Amino acid sequence: MIRVDKSTVKVPKILNKGKGFAMTNQLKTDFDNGIRSFDFDSKIYGNKSVKSLLIKIQHKKCCFCERYRPYARECDVEHFRPKGGYQVDESLPLIQPGYYWLAYDFSNLFYSCKTCNQAYKKNFFPLSDETKRAKNHNDDLSLEESLLIHPEFDDPQNHITFVEEIAKPINDSIKGKTTIKYLGLNDSELLKERFDYLRILKIAAVEARKGEPTTKNLFKELSKPQNMFSMMVRCNFPDLV
Ligand SMILES: [Zn+2]
Repeated sequence: MIRVDKSTVKVPKILNKGKGFAMTNQLKTDFDNGIRSFDFDSKIYGNKSVKSLLIKIQHKKCCFCERYRPYARECDVEHFRPKGGYQVDESLPLIQPGYYWLAYDFSNLFYSCKTCNQAYKKNFFPLSDETKRAKNHNDDLSLEESLLIHPEFDDPQNHITFVEEIAKPINDSIKGKTTIKYLGLNDSELLKERFDYLRILKIAAVEARKGEPTTKNLFKELSKPQNMFSMMVRCNFPDLV
């Protein structure tokens, strides 16, 4: 998981000026009128202009697992704060409504692979202090402290490191622990993919440490954000990146 930088791009018009803007206002009005169950239009938050922009700024990688995922076959526009309802943990029921007013908010949207989004994160959204939860658009969202690492506003490297192919929390970081658990960052398939990649990198590292220039440059390249598992590369080969 690496930080997603949205600071240099313009929010797609469909979200902040077009239908998304109108729909958000309607959802807020509906809530104020007593409605508590909402429908959302995936054609708006999942519009091509939104998906393609997210994929571009995320270097075609899932915001959680750093795997490449092809646009056509697998592309979920993930809501960091769940739009329909949220679950604090697996022992507690889904609570509705969710963060309906953020359904079309660009800062709440990320490109995620189906495994991370649908098999792991689902509607989990635990907080450090449940009494601070924003339960509707009139509440102050800034009081919330998410226990999941926000891909844009948190820096994952402050909470998670990699020891070999295994994701570990830094200094017992509760955000790190919770993110690893609910995002499945040590999912068995993912561990296998990282293990296989790391095995090759370890062989290359022997050459790089002897000073072989092409292999040394390769490590610098592979540690860049546009490459798969870049965080694991940086954590395992700090002397080469
Ligand atoms: Zn993923």
